[in-house]
Amino acid sequence: MAAVATSEARRAELVSLYNAVSSCTACPLAETRTQVVFGAGNANAELMFVGEAPGFHEDQQGIPFVGAAGKLLESLLADIGLSREDVFIGNVLKCRPPGNRDPQADEIEACQNHLFRQIELIQPRIVATLGNFATKLLSGSPAGITRVHGTQQSVQLGNSQVLLYPIYHPAAALYTRAMLGVLEQDFARLPQLLAGEPAPGPEEAAPAALAATPAATEYEAQLGLF
Ligand code: SF4
Repeated sequence: MAAVATSEARRAELVSLYNAVSSCTACPLAETRTQVVFGAGNANAELMFVGEAPGFHEDQQGIPFVGAAGKLLESLLADIGLSREDVFIGNVLKCRPPGNRDPQADEIEACQNHLFRQIELIQPRIVATLGNFATKLLSGSPAGITRVHGTQQSVQLGNSQVLLYPIYHPAAALYTRAMLGVLEQDFARLPQLLAGEPAPGPEEAAPAALAATPAATEYEAQLGLF
C-alpha cells in the first residue's frame, strides 16, 4: 500500500483505519474482547512503542498501557522528558487474549497488517518494541529480547524505513525489580537516537541524566482520545 504524503492525509487515513479496525473480526479474539484497543497518542510521532496485547484495564478502557505497566511506561518517558502525548503507543494485537495469555501465532498473523499500516501512516523514525512478541515480529528474527534489547537496527517495514529499538516490556520490571535499571538504561538512549546522533552502546550508556529531548512534533492528534 502506498505511503500517504501529508500530515493531514495521514491523520485522515489513520482515523479511517481506526474505524475499520474497531469492528475487526479477523480472529477469534473478537468474540471475547470488550472492545478493540487501536492505539493512542500523537499521529505525527517520531517515536512509536509497540507492546504485546491489551490487558484487562486496556480492554475495559480502549486505551493501551493504562494499567501498572502503563504507569511505569509514563514514568520512564518522563525521565527522558517525554509524555504519552509525544509518542504513539500500540500493540501487536488489538484485542485482549483471554486471561492475558500470550498471543498465538494465528492471532498475530491475522492482526499484523493493522500494525504495519499504523507504522506506514504514522511514519515514526524509531519504533521501540516492548518485549519479545513485538521484537520478533518487527525484526523478522527469532532473536529474543534478552539478546537484542538496547541495540538499534534499521529495518524496512512496508514502505517505511525505521530504526527498530527493542526494549524489555515494562511489565517485566513489575515482576523482577532488578529489571527496572535495565529499562532505565535502555530508555536513556532514546534521546540520542531521536536526535539522530550516534548513540553509545548499552554498556557505555549513562544510566540516567541524559538531556531532555526533542521537542515533540504536534500535539493535536490524540488518537484514542476521539
Ligand atoms: Fe482483528 Fe486483531 Fe482483534 Fe483479531 S486481535 S479481531 S485480528 S483487531
